[in-house]
Amino acid sequence: MNKRIYLDYSATTPMKKEVLDEMMPYFSEKYGNPSSIYSFGREAKQAIDVARDRLAKAVGASSKEIFFTGGGSEADNWAIKGIAYANRNKGNHIITSKIEHHAVLHVCEYLEKDGFEVTYLDVDEYGMIDLEQLKEAITDKTILITIMYVNNEIGTIQPIKEIGKIAKEKGVYFHTDAVQALGNIPIDIKELDVDIMNFSAHKIYGPKGVGGIYIRKGVKIHPFIHGGAQERKRRAGTENVPGIVGFGKAAELATQNLDSHIAHVKRLRDKLIEGIQNNIDYVRLNGHPTERHPGNVNFCFEFIEGESLLLSLDMVGIAGSSGSACTSGSLDPSHVLMAIGLTHEIAHGSLRLTIGDFTKEEDIDYVVEHLITIVDRLRQMSPLYEGVKGGK
Ligand SMILES: *Cc1c(COP(=O)(O)O)cnc(C)c1O
Repeated sequence: MNKRIYLDYSATTPMKKEVLDEMMPYFSEKYGNPSSIYSFGREAKQAIDVARDRLAKAVGASSKEIFFTGGGSEADNWAIKGIAYANRNKGNHIITSKIEHHAVLHVCEYLEKDGFEVTYLDVDEYGMIDLEQLKEAITDKTILITIMYVNNEIGTIQPIKEIGKIAKEKGVYFHTDAVQALGNIPIDIKELDVDIMNFSAHKIYGPKGVGGIYIRKGVKIHPFIHGGAQERKRRAGTENVPGIVGFGKAAELATQNLDSHIAHVKRLRDKLIEGIQNNIDYVRLNGHPTERHPGNVNFCFEFIEGESLLLSLDMVGIAGSSGSACTSGSLDPSHVLMAIGLTHEIAHGSLRLTIGDFTKEEDIDYVVEHLITIVDRLRQMSPLYEGVKGGK
């Protein structure tokens, strides 16, 4: 097999062996339904309790405030729709930002069709919201602020503590999508005025199709799925026991190894950023220089298309992603790159490379070496590059 280098950890992560090992028995010999009262059921129920405790501990919450879902997107839907419909008598206004994940933005757009009003806050060139603009946007109709913790495309970390303070002062619920935060920055809910926070297992070396949500005690929110008493009557349906067990283990590992994980990915991230900046002209680093996901690298390469770059990288075994056209099935570049003020031309040349626990030093050398030749080759073919070649 040819060399393959995976640099798309923000899209998904490989499961860790320890996680898989803990899950395995729950597919076969420990198959009881957690709602059943006999020993098979109790065994499964206990495994869920352990997972809930582990996730709660990982984020500094009480186990009673943690619920499991079918993924990060489901949890975003639950948080926003659940709060919106349960508090409709108080108001119909929601505040979010222009750079949220689609699992937040599309829910907001859906609610707009159902009589809610949504303010989409701007971000600056680094992807940061403006706290003054947030304060000014709050009205007596505002019931929810939903702003993500860490952006999945450009890695910018928002001032969650400050946003929470503002929300609390105004008596408005605050939801944050922390899918990219868990396992990449320390999270302590006790120190944040956050009412609802959500997570996804497959972004932290756990299984796909399982997520979690923290709902602070006392928050008025509707159940998400009706039909049974599971998850304290808020999310019905027989639990995904192996998935939940895997999520619990992944959350435990993520927090136990947080410092070494951050040190590892940050070192390789900075090496990759320097490698690109020192060897390739006409590049722009997207995202914040310091308030940034430790494993996120996002560049625009002028005069070329992100799509062509991805395909050429794939031919030498490198997997990354792009905020440019076709991948998303639309002609417009990513809403995040537009929101930080890039022109269409520049945004079309974007490349996101995200680093994780299994990335090695030599992988970065390999990627930089290939990027130099690929970018040069694509630019030689680009009519846009013609004019600037002479000056180089
Ligand atoms: C991946 C991701 C999601 C969606 O999670 P799924 O478990 O894939 O549904 C939501 N928000 C952010 C920021 C993400 O990165």
